[in-house]
Amino acid sequence: MEAPVLRLARQFVFEPIAGQRIQGTVRLRIWGQALDPAHPATWAVLIRVVSRDGEEERGVLLPLTTGGESESFGPELAPLILGPLRLAPVDARKGDRVVVELGSRGAARVESPDDGHAWVQFSADILSEDLTTHFKEARSSRKVGKCIYCGLIGEPLSREHVIPEGLNGEFTLIAASCARCRDITSGFEQEVLRNIFGTARIVLQMRSQRPNERPSHLRIQVRRGGKEIEIQVPVQEYPAILALPIFAQPGYLAGRSSSSGIDVVGTAQTQVAGLPLAELRQKYGGEYLGVRLVYQPVQFARAVAKIAYGFTVLTFGLEHIAERYVLPALLGETSDIGRWVGCDRTSPLVPSTGLHAVTLRMEGKEIHVLVRLFAQFDAPEYRVVVGRVL
Ligand SMILES: [Zn+2]
Repeated sequence: MEAPVLRLARQFVFEPIAGQRIQGTVRLRIWGQALDPAHPATWAVLIRVVSRDGEEERGVLLPLTTGGESESFGPELAPLILGPLRLAPVDARKGDRVVVELGSRGAARVESPDDGHAWVQFSADILSEDLTTHFKEARSSRKVGKCIYCGLIGEPLSREHVIPEGLNGEFTLIAASCARCRDITSGFEQEVLRNIFGTARIVLQMRSQRPNERPSHLRIQVRRGGKEIEIQVPVQEYPAILALPIFAQPGYLAGRSSSSGIDVVGTAQTQVAGLPLAELRQKYGGEYLGVRLVYQPVQFARAVAKIAYGFTVLTFGLEHIAERYVLPALLGETSDIGRWVGCDRTSPLVPSTGLHAVTLRMEGKEIHVLVRLFAQFDAPEYRVVVGRVL
């Protein structure tokens, strides 16, 4: 078999942020034309990370990849969309450059057109779409050695779970929170775990500090003959419903002036386990049957902000974060959580695979994190404007 040959036609360079893990997918739009109509030429692309001086190759994001027969250039100079091509993860160091080399296998002309359209949608893709991690697939941690909230050094620091352990979160920051900040953050986090996610956690048997105390039955509300009563049903039958708030866009992005609290524009109800309510009603009777849902939008928004901030520290390291917009509201020092946390008006950007998904999305130097807890149950996605990198 003939080895693929890259005839270098174009090179595109993109500078990542130091400490950034580059991974995900990339899309390329190229214009090519076979020079010899009798022998079709196909595209070839190689993406690697090199040091600033070009001396040292740090890693290959995409090994030399060429298109098959169906992806060959015709006799006309016409655009081809390549991808999404999956990249292998590489951790960038200071001064690193990502180099995209685009060429052909066989005689072809590959070039950028004069119409002003991007021919390599690379930096945008890599920065905006793709620092995705599904928590089921990878376990990762980072040692911080400093309180990520107040900067305290020297006291015993405790471990932080990016996604709460009680939601089976896998990612951890080691030596990352002082006792005072842990009291604050675990205060609202525990409330959210107990109230908003409590029954779902029991029914899905998620991690617990006291697994032996898991109840075998849970209560549902039934109205019979105009009277409301509570009955106990086995955990397997219990309709675990999450009622998650749908927020307005983060105020900062919508251009709303700072206000307190957070605007709730709707509720997304998602059943994650148990029997459907209609079936339960057949089984237990009554004119009405339901479960009690606790709804705490502000505490929930703070818990989402904590996940987003923790994920940012995990991705970049504390030293690369220049400003942390969301921190005062997260800690409860200010009440403008709705300025930094919200929902997009579009459908979720993170696919609904894996239990939870967190994606980091750069908007210029601003760090946006998309948080989707219970993604696989089609739960809503939240956008957190975390802050800014250096
Ligand atoms: Zn602290």
